[in-house]
Amino acid sequence: MYIEILTTSRSRKDPYRAFRRFLSVRRTGKNMYRVQAEEQQLRKVRRICRRRHYELVRTYPENRGRSDSYRQAFLRHYPRPFGGYRCRYCHRRLSDRKLMIDHIYPVYRAKTGNGFWLRLLGIDDVNDIRNLAPACRRCNTKKGRSAGIWILRAILGKYELYWIVRRLLQAAIILALLLAGQRLLLMVQSGQGLTSIFPMQ
Ligand SMILES: [Zn+2]
Repeated sequence: MYIEILTTSRSRKDPYRAFRRFLSVRRTGKNMYRVQAEEQQLRKVRRICRRRHYELVRTYPENRGRSDSYRQAFLRHYPRPFGGYRCRYCHRRLSDRKLMIDHIYPVYRAKTGNGFWLRLLGIDDVNDIRNLAPACRRCNTKKGRSAGIWILRAILGKYELYWIVRRLLQAAIILALLLAGQRLLLMVQSGQGLTSIFPMQ
């Protein structure tokens, strides 16, 4: 299991040393650490936290935490397509340097929520390749911890047909707007538009 720990100003420093006897310790953010331990070691972890003034934030199963190897797993499973990867959310082409691998159902939700979406998608591990998608930094940041519509977009974005239909719809909307504009212009020019807007007495 994973145990998330927060150090505070009162904490004794160096959680790496404090938890060195456990499976792994890694820093996950400013003042945040993730300890990997066996389930029966939780009491021991709690004791260390009390003694050293660490705050135990949450515990969650390992399949709900970010793995160390999800990126490699994705790249292995989906070899680079001809022309490079495309962002699943905006279809922009991504250079290898800009390629981000997004957890479609966000890790934060997986470890804090009830896992409803994961169950719905039939996925047990948040790092399952079915839960990973290529993304650009902009979409990845915009998406953040959101699920809902973003999950739908990730599923649809996988299909080339979705992007073709989307582009066709966009073109149709632009065409309709242009035609409406042209009609309005003709009405104004012939004086019809003005009299209908400002009827003369
Ligand atoms: Zn994007």
